[in-house]
Amino acid sequence: MARCKSWRYVAASGDVESLPGRNREAWNLCSNKVDRGVKRCTQCLDALLFHPNPAIRQALAVEPGLATSTLEFMLEDASIAVVAEAEAILRQRQERQLDSLLPSAR
Ligand SMILES: [Zn+2]
Repeated sequence: MARCKSWRYVAASGDVESLPGRNREAWNLCSNKVDRGVKRCTQCLDALLFHPNPAIRQALAVEPGLATSTLEFMLEDASIAVVAEAEAILRQRQERQLDSLLPSAR
């Protein structure tokens, strides 16, 4: 069984400014069990999706390999910057999918 390796934001800390790992009261290192190939548990993902600091949510949006469903959820974010990142990544993925419909260049 794999373990979550994410920082988990503790909303009750009231610290909206510190970055992951900087304040151990605001950020716990998680070790919840996760399925193989999954790097973050749903508790950690939710804590990041609802973090009050848009810079944290923006960092999540650009994380490589983020699930398409998570990016689609982020299209509803209150921050224009977060929405723009999520849109750009979703567009790139769609373009890559369309590229795969074409024969490779000769
Ligand atoms: Zn976790």
